[in-house]
Amino acid sequence: MTKINRREFTKLAGAAAAASTSVGTFAYAQGNKRVVIVGGGAGGATVAHHVKKGAPELDVTLIEVQPKYTTCFFSNLYLGGFRSFQSITHEYTGLEKLGVKVVHDLASDVDTQKRSVTLKGGDELNYDKLVLSPGIDLKYDTIEGYSPDAALVMPHAWQAGAQTQLLRRQLVDMKDGGTVVLAPPPNPFRCPPGPYERASMIAHYLKYHKPASKLIILDPKRKFSKQPLFEEAWQAHYDGIIEVKLTNDIDENRVVRVDANTMEVETKGGERIKASVANIVPAQKAGMIAHQAGCAKGDWCPIDPASFESALVNDVYVLGDASIAAKMPKSGFSANSQAKVVANDIQSKLAGKKRFPARYRNTCWSLVATNDSVKVGASYTAGDKAVDVTSKFISKPGEDAAVRAQTFQESLGWYAGITADMFAKV
Ligand SMILES: Cc1cc2nc3c(=O)[nH]c(=O)nc-3n(C[C@H](O)[C@H](O)[C@H](O)COP(=O)(O)OP(=O)(O)OC[C@H]3O[C@@H](n4cnc5c(N)ncnc54)[C@H](O)[C@@H]3O)c2cc1C
Repeated sequence: MTKINRREFTKLAGAAAAASTSVGTFAYAQGNKRVVIVGGGAGGATVAHHVKKGAPELDVTLIEVQPKYTTCFFSNLYLGGFRSFQSITHEYTGLEKLGVKVVHDLASDVDTQKRSVTLKGGDELNYDKLVLSPGIDLKYDTIEGYSPDAALVMPHAWQAGAQTQLLRRQLVDMKDGGTVVLAPPPNPFRCPPGPYERASMIAHYLKYHKPASKLIILDPKRKFSKQPLFEEAWQAHYDGIIEVKLTNDIDENRVVRVDANTMEVETKGGERIKASVANIVPAQKAGMIAHQAGCAKGDWCPIDPASFESALVNDVYVLGDASIAAKMPKSGFSANSQAKVVANDIQSKLAGKKRFPARYRNTCWSLVATNDSVKVGASYTAGDKAVDVTSKFISKPGEDAAVRAQTFQESLGWYAGITADMFAKV
């Protein structure tokens, strides 16, 4: 099995990264082409890094509403006590040093005729190419009683930051003997194995700190990512702690209503559970700005599989969770890989650089217990209509402890590599 370290990650993550050239000090000249990127996460920050690194003459502006970025990836490890919050929170200084203009504001409007983005603070930025990687918005109204206010009591923690800290604090404050309810979202959603890694991490915390407590999963799906691997791990490590209720013919176990005052969670089948901690993750859709720019068809944004240009709007790219990337799951690894292709396409169109054929990769690691990680992944290419799978792999049930420990080490290398790549850390 290949072990990925930080140095090797960039090499592996996408052939298009080869388009990057050396970086020099650069003063903006008038008339330089302008690239505006909305969303400084896995997709957007990586695009900013690679466009600026590969074509320093381009004027690159990254608009990100948050001053710092907390990764959803490894946020479950924080919940389980395996990582500190600080270790999953990153700054934009590396990108700024590279010459990217980082603007902390909300992009509130896009005029695709005028090719401009308006910020909540009032500024307007013109672009030659616009990149949208805004991640997800949550469809609160798909669960009666759920809302941004209710999420302050029953966190979703599906956008990392204050929500993740809230969920962790609730677990720590909970009395032993409590009931934690985890309601995963329906498909498609950000990070298919994420709810089940989260279940593992919460169960791990309960096992060692609140052993009389239990975790009930109320899932609106019949099956889920890496299911045999998670079920094996739960049996081995958390027997008696986790109870899984998948949906069935009458959709019995889907959460349809919550009450943040009484902490009740109600399923379609009429079961009412009084939760000590309720982690409610509703259905999702592309971030607001992608809809506002006219890039969405339904909840998500169709793209050209060879470039991640919007299929609906000229001179706009949509990548990461907001896009419809067919068989590529909505993951940080996917977004980072797509970003290399987007950056290469922009450089070729605005700076005359060589264009490389699109190649994509993804691997999702999930920590299930101490030194015990499983993974699933694939390589992809651009088909005529969609991103197509060229090869895939998945961990096997019954693997020995040494393999699982090595898989965990790989995930650590990946995390260090992707965050260095996103934020241009040296
Ligand atoms: C619990 C959990 C665990 C996960 N684990 C993994 C994992 O192990 N591996 C993996 O690969 N992926 C994992 N993921 C998925 C991963 O986090 C996402 O797929 C990835 O972050 C998507 O990248 P993105 O660029 O589309 O969105 P994001 O990374 O969310 O970035 C979007 C950014 O845009 C900003 N933004 C949005 N709208 C605006 C606006 N209008 N103006 C300004 N800024 C705006 C947001 O503040 C945000 O910073 C996990 C997700 C969760 C929830």
